[in-house]
Amino acid sequence: MKQKIIIGNWKNYLSHKESISLANSLLGLDTSDKTRVMVSPNHLYLNEVNQILSTTDIEVISQNLTSAESKSDTGGITAVNLKNISINRSLVAHSETRIREKTPQSILLEIIPMGFPFVLCFEEIDQIPFDILNDNLEIILAYEPVWAIGTGETASIDHINEIHSGVKSKLSKLGLNIPVLYGGSVNPSNCKEILDSDNVDGVLVGGASTKYDQFQEIVNSI
Ligand code: PEP
Repeated sequence: MKQKIIIGNWKNYLSHKESISLANSLLGLDTSDKTRVMVSPNHLYLNEVNQILSTTDIEVISQNLTSAESKSDTGGITAVNLKNISINRSLVAHSETRIREKTPQSILLEIIPMGFPFVLCFEEIDQIPFDILNDNLEIILAYEPVWAIGTGETASIDHINEIHSGVKSKLSKLGLNIPVLYGGSVNPSNCKEILDSDNVDGVLVGGASTKYDQFQEIVNSI
């Protein structure tokens, strides 16, 4: 069985204390070689959470970035500064950031040449810039229908399979081997059916990842 990727996006749900407490709980997470686990805390706590989890296999990633290199980008998050604190991947174009940032295409055109890995969120297949993707960067794609994010309404498995197989067939025509995750109200009750699909390479989990027990159930469901 191929390794499944499970990403916990903590968004801005947790306080500093809660983020540190969840990070400490994750020290006890039982991971297997069937899964690759990543968590994405609020930017303010990224460094501290990364340090807490540095002895584990859990990768800590950024929720967003706004530029590749250092520049006059007040309030932004640069890839180079993320690397300075040993954060080596970022979500890009999450629907909650898409509404206020530069276009995904323009930020990808900056970070791909610098070799900074990312998880690109999309809602429509035509939002994926297939022409600039490559296999050298360990890119991850995440299908996240906006209506399913934070609503408790998960896409049906047939719908997920249809979208994922469309994306995978385009990728394979281009000779690209890029994992495609699903995100949108994934929880302990629906994760198994989703993760069992051969078209799904993992899940991007928001709300449920902020509760240790629920995240643990998701990670251990495969
Ligand atoms: C997300 O924020 O990427 C997400 C999928 O959220 P939720 O699981 O809460 O729907």
